[in-house]
Amino acid sequence: MRNVEEVKQGVFRIRVPQPVPGDVFVYVIKKEKVTLIDAGHPSSDSQASLITALKEIGIKLADVDQIILTHRDMDHIGALLTHANELHCQVFAGYPAKKEPTLYEQLEGIRPQLPDQFTEELLTKASMDEIDFAQAEHLSITQHVKHGDVIDVGGEYLEVLETPGHSFDHISLYDPGSNVLYGGDVLIENGPPTKIIDLQQYLLTLDTLRQKNIKEVFPSHGPIMDHHLDAIEQAIATIVDIDQKIITCLKDGSKSCYDLALQFNNGNVDENLLFYIQLISNHLNRLQDKDIIIKTDRGVSLQ
Ligand SMILES: [Zn+2]
Repeated sequence: MRNVEEVKQGVFRIRVPQPVPGDVFVYVIKKEKVTLIDAGHPSSDSQASLITALKEIGIKLADVDQIILTHRDMDHIGALLTHANELHCQVFAGYPAKKEPTLYEQLEGIRPQLPDQFTEELLTKASMDEIDFAQAEHLSITQHVKHGDVIDVGGEYLEVLETPGHSFDHISLYDPGSNVLYGGDVLIENGPPTKIIDLQQYLLTLDTLRQKNIKEVFPSHGPIMDHHLDAIEQAIATIVDIDQKIITCLKDGSKSCYDLALQFNNGNVDENLLFYIQLISNHLNRLQDKDIIIKTDRGVSLQ
């Protein structure tokens, strides 16, 4: 598969690898200005592919007029860390909302139940998250943007939509001329993004996107989508499905988040367990807000 594709006149989609599975897509809008939407992962492979692909469309880093970050996750801010000295451009990003809690912090109440190996893993992950956050926090953002702002991309304008949920600072860019949404990590094929930091916010974001007349979504991961409403319904269906599964598990009595995660992971104490713990803890917060479950000594039970 080619790494550069012109997806719309003057708009290029560049595939770059990252150290974990799943490629990242950077979009380049080459009009009177050169605009990058996101900047890949800072790993050398990712940056080398980005530079090669830019060269293929006749662009050097020094030609980039502006970079718009959909959010500050590592796989989106790469060039700003690796090539800070070569870039002399405007950098737009959403307002730096509050710091995301690390998984270690998120699982505060559950930690005592975890086997020791997980506590260590969580602490390692937490310290890596702290380092990532420190780097992301010190990016030279030249302009913070909010919902409804417009960004000139060289004769055309992109509308900023605040789309939190995957991260607190997430924005998407809407092109009213072509009804294209540069969605970042908000909408991806086959369901919601793996990481959701706030499920309620994410669902509100889906509502916002449902109101928009969107013909195509250019996402940061996975294929371009031309049925955004289907993608939204798919994401909601997945979320509701998990809610239902939790409710079913709770029918035979009170359980902790750890018990539930273990059940979701077919009783296996392996590396997937942490993923389920995080997922379920998000859902438990939502089910509690909706008064469907209540806290008990053991964890939670149905209301
Ligand atoms: Zn991403």
